[in-house]
Amino acid sequence: MTLRFLPADENTGLRFQRVDLPDTPPIPATLEYVVPRQRRTAIAHGGASVELIEHVMAALAGLQIDNCLIEVNAPEAPGADGSSLGFVQVLLDAGIVEQSDSRNVLVIRDACTARGDDERSEISAGPVFRRTLVISYELDYGPRSPIKPQLLTFEFSPEAFVTSLAFARTFILETEITALKAQGYGSRVTPADLLIFGSAGVIGNQVRATDECVRHKILDCIGDFALLGCDIHGHFRAYRSGHNLNHSICRMVAEAQHATHLLRQPA
Ligand SMILES: [Zn+2]
Repeated sequence: MTLRFLPADENTGLRFQRVDLPDTPPIPATLEYVVPRQRRTAIAHGGASVELIEHVMAALAGLQIDNCLIEVNAPEAPGADGSSLGFVQVLLDAGIVEQSDSRNVLVIRDACTARGDDERSEISAGPVFRRTLVISYELDYGPRSPIKPQLLTFEFSPEAFVTSLAFARTFILETEITALKAQGYGSRVTPADLLIFGSAGVIGNQVRATDECVRHKILDCIGDFALLGCDIHGHFRAYRSGHNLNHSICRMVAEAQHATHLLRQPA
């Protein structure tokens, strides 16, 4: 499985191309092309789909790369180590070109909230005093979970993304892996591919930070918010939010009449 990042013209955005399906068009990585999935973000267009795009999207958005064609030769993006680190490293090695057109910025004026069906998860978006994106995430799976409650507020900058979020890996409970394997999924998953939490903690691996899980959840938010196709100035507050709720709040923000578009200020 191979993924290639290719340069793209101004205002073409982020698009995925299935090179193993040569007659299919590029798939724009925007909300309109998102298809419903469990525990991941996927897009589809013209008979092609790409699964598991969120960590690739986070790497691109985290580095403020607005235009890129991403070629993949398989139905899903490589999982790598479950984080965005490998993608960030190859993008930094390739180099980033400054283009001349301005980037739209969506400024959130009024608060809105998306809630999960189970009433145990929600995410809200509201205004922020500074011209930036702030994400506060509270992860709490209850007192009996081997994953302890974690709370983190992250103020976006490419530098902060690279140093504080890019390394944070996907995590899952051992009981969830067992259930997935019983359904025929994830048969190849090993403790090297992501963090697996058993009752006594991480199995066969070590955390890269004590709060690696909440850092990964914020990384997922950055990848999912990039589906808006513009910068965002606002403060998101998430409680146990996952990809589907992240998409819901993006749709609410995109539809809100009071969200205003500006142009990105020169760095
Ligand atoms: Zn993730």
